[in-house]
Amino acid sequence: MENENIKRKILLTPGPATTTEGVKYSQVVPDICPREKEFGELIQWIRRELTCIVGDNEDYATVLFGGSGTAAIESMICSSLSDNDKLLVISNGAYGKRICRIAEAYGLAFFEFKSSPKAMIDLDKLEQVLVEKEINHLAVVHHETTTGLLNDVASIGAICRKLNISFLLDAISSFASIPINMKEMHISFLAASSNKNLQGMPGVSFVIANKKSLDSLANKKTRCFYLNLYDQYQFLKKNKQFRFTPPVQTIYALKQALIEFKKEGLPNRYLRYAKSWEVLVDSLKELGLKMLLEEDIQSKLIVSVVEPESFEFEDFHDFLYEKGITVYPGKLTEEKTFRIGTIGDIDHRDMKIFTDLMQSYFKAD
Ligand SMILES: *Cc1c(COP(=O)(O)O)cnc(C)c1O
Repeated sequence: MENENIKRKILLTPGPATTTEGVKYSQVVPDICPREKEFGELIQWIRRELTCIVGDNEDYATVLFGGSGTAAIESMICSSLSDNDKLLVISNGAYGKRICRIAEAYGLAFFEFKSSPKAMIDLDKLEQVLVEKEINHLAVVHHETTTGLLNDVASIGAICRKLNISFLLDAISSFASIPINMKEMHISFLAASSNKNLQGMPGVSFVIANKKSLDSLANKKTRCFYLNLYDQYQFLKKNKQFRFTPPVQTIYALKQALIEFKKEGLPNRYLRYAKSWEVLVDSLKELGLKMLLEEDIQSKLIVSVVEPESFEFEDFHDFLYEKGITVYPGKLTEEKTFRIGTIGDIDHRDMKIFTDLMQSYFKAD
């Protein structure tokens, strides 16, 4: 099913990412009512496969929603706290801040634990605050896409285990590339979406959770309707259907994306991304461009580059966009940066095309 009209673009954005032809065309299917048994089987298959990436289907389950990644985060945050619960949110980038804003919108009792966006979290201080403030829920972003900083989820999980804290993880930009083991890392709830490292189409997000934690939500305060995690879980479990209309075609694309993910395997996917990162970093060094983070704390999934003097992001963007490459602006307010992602159906050869163009752009000035 080749289609000459779909030109391949290189998205160096942190998602939605470049997709394969297979994923693009898998959305062209006969119309189907999502309440049909056949569609229910597809949903069950997808739920099980997603769970497998981070846990076992015996103890863990996936709850799907139609919506972008933020929907899954909002669902787990607004569904898992009662009035007497206290949440600590680790904030070291724009996405940590977003969790705070969600907690605020629902009027939750929460504490913002601020940490430098450019350095590892001080775990001793974190533990001290958790004890002092009698916190029983903790939320953190695994990979802060704002900067490319990879937070130490295993160590945070160990603290949560020790203090008997329910651990909620925004794994949206790490899922399906950076290994996660929910049991070992003591993660109760994890949010992710279809269009980042999974390389599917945007429109499906999901929460993966410990079944015991999901069951415990029955006793929590109901704060939302559409995003109610417990209700969506119960409905999916009983009826093998979404409560409300699912994004049907996006789900077919997710099926294909999962087939391709299984074929490549998580370690190889990460290696492919990391190889593009190496090409990128070499080129930045050659140009004397500074990265916001030291190399050893980077995820290798996105790089935040400090803008040099008299740099105009729009001009750089338009120069590349004309050539089929999309780059992304920075998100930090204190420092001017732009960001280059390595995720999606691209490899080191595509990155080389980009870095060659970047060299010519900067050397032309
Ligand atoms: C992409 C992303 C999100 C979700 O963004 P949406 O636009 O809602 O899909 C949340 N957290 C992180 C860390 C992300 O990278």
